[in-house]
Amino acid sequence: MTDPTDDLNADNGVYKTLLESTKAIPWKIDWKTMRFAYIGPQIEALLGWSPASWASAEDWAARMHPEDREWVVNFCVSQSKDGCDHEADYRALTQDGRYVWIRDVVHVVRDAAGEVDCLVGFMFDISERKETEQKLIVLQKELEALSFKDGLTGVANRRMFDSILETEWTNARRNSQPLSLILIDIDYFKQYNDHYGHIQGDDCLKRVGQVLDSAATRARDLVARFGGEEFALVLPETDATAALKVAERCRSLIFKEQIPHPTSPVSRILTASLGVGTIIPGHQDRPLAFIEAVDRQLYQAKQAGRNRVASGNE
Ligand code: GH3
Ligand code: MG
Ligand code: MG
Repeated sequence: MTDPTDDLNADNGVYKTLLESTKAIPWKIDWKTMRFAYIGPQIEALLGWSPASWASAEDWAARMHPEDREWVVNFCVSQSKDGCDHEADYRALTQDGRYVWIRDVVHVVRDAAGEVDCLVGFMFDISERKETEQKLIVLQKELEALSFKDGLTGVANRRMFDSILETEWTNARRNSQPLSLILIDIDYFKQYNDHYGHIQGDDCLKRVGQVLDSAATRARDLVARFGGEEFALVLPETDATAALKVAERCRSLIFKEQIPHPTSPVSRILTASLGVGTIIPGHQDRPLAFIEAVDRQLYQAKQAGRNRVASGNE
């Protein structure tokens, strides 16, 4: 039986045909002169530059995205000097001024004395793969954002609330700064749902979420859906007087929306009750106990007739 590689050895043309019919683009650079000994004709279809225009390694470096050039050239040169096979992903410039993502896979060939003789390699077009990667990164970011957002109202969800409160609690304790919390609960929302149905109830929650979002003005203020028809505002570096003002603003903005609520025992318009608390956290204090204290204020506001603000500082 004949060895098929004998045929290949006998006919160099077979190698050439094979190399030039693949999608990968073969090339060879002489190490001493740093000049291209060969580059597959496929390069022209991919980048637009003719094979003859690839004279030296400088042409290769020049046709690379400026942001990639320095690290790719340094990396490839140092790996080659060390005699290490390597690969690099970079954006190659096309003749009409676009960029194509390339993976260059490089094999270092040594001579009989063990010195680097030449570099041979393949360039692969990985633009589709990179595009998919980019899309995945965008999706990943969207997913991250979604996992901190309340699906109905678009404000932060309970998980985000817990995480921000924890962070701001630590900040406030470290800097001995006041941290305020407002809990907001819609009055007689069960009756609202009973009257208008759940879908309109959902719309109402969205509107209240937007109103509260507009009431929180500082960059670090957080509006979150605490649960059901309850919302929370975390106000870092905010003292009791300022927090009370924000709470009163929330109450009045919700009222100003003039959302009809014909079956509410307190008003024909949708209202909310609010509890406010402020703390400069000490080492013994815990966020949960603080939330409970503010929740007691909210309960007081309900008891006192609803559509009002109760704070622990009266
Ligand atoms: P109070 O004035 O004492 O707060 O009375 P309330 O009726 O608002 O309080 P209660 O806790 O009895 O009822 C809350 C209602 O909120 C009941 C529940 O169906 C409604 N609710 C909670 N989450 C949602 C939601 O996502 N969408 C809708 N439409 N309703 C919700
Ligand atoms: Mg409630
Ligand atoms: Mg309620």
